[in-house]
Amino acid sequence: METDYKIIFSRRKTLMLTAERDRSIVVTAPLGTSQEAIHQAIESRKLWLYEKTRHAQKNFLLPHPPGKEMVSGESAPYLGRYYRIEFTDSDDEIRFEQKFIVPRRLIDKTKAFQAWFIKKAGTKILPRVPVHAQRLDVIYKEAKLGKGKYRWGSCTPHDNVLINWRLIKAPLFVIDYVIVHELAHLIEPDHSALFWNIVRAQITKTDKAKAWLLKNGALLQQDF
Ligand SMILES: [Zn+2]
Repeated sequence: METDYKIIFSRRKTLMLTAERDRSIVVTAPLGTSQEAIHQAIESRKLWLYEKTRHAQKNFLLPHPPGKEMVSGESAPYLGRYYRIEFTDSDDEIRFEQKFIVPRRLIDKTKAFQAWFIKKAGTKILPRVPVHAQRLDVIYKEAKLGKGKYRWGSCTPHDNVLINWRLIKAPLFVIDYVIVHELAHLIEPDHSALFWNIVRAQITKTDKAKAWLLKNGALLQQDF
C-alpha cells in the first residue's frame, strides 16, 4: 500500500496520525521531525491506517445526483445502504457484487438501474408478502409491485397487495413494515389503535420505519 499523506509540523511533542473522511492521512509531527521518522511511523501503523481509511471510504460514498450523467465512483442505494458504482467495458448487464458493476456501453444507465431495481424488488420484496400474510393469518389475491411515485403500498380486501418497487432502496425492516402495514388493513381498514397494535406486534421497529420513510421519501421518488 502506498500511502499519501500530508504533514503538519507543530509544537506538539509526539507524532500523531489521523485519517480524514476523504481518506487522506494527516501527520502532525513535532517541529524538526525527519522525513525518515515520519515514514517509519507510517510504516509501523500501516494496518491501522488501512482499517481507518477503509472505514472512512465506507462513509464517503457520494450518491449519484439524479438527472445528472452517471459517473464511475458515485454510489447507489440498495436495501438501505449505498454501494459504489464502477464502470466496466466487459459486461452487458448491471451486476451487483457489494458494488454495482455497470457496463459503460449502456446508453441510458438510469433506465438500466431502474430495470435492475424492479427485477430485484420482484425477487427480494414480493416473496416476503406471503410470509407476513401467514403470520397475520390473512388472505390476499396476489402480490404485485406498485409503480407510483408517492404510494409505498396499497391493499383492499379481496384485492391485490401492491408494494412499490422503489422500496428496494430501503432497509429490510422498512420493506417489512410497509408489507405488514398493507396486510394489516385486511384485518382493520382504519389507522385505529387496533391497527397499530397489529402492526407493532409484527414490526418492533415500526416507529423507526415510519421515520425512515418520512426522511427518505425523496430518495425513493427519484427514478434512480
Ligand atoms: Zn394504511
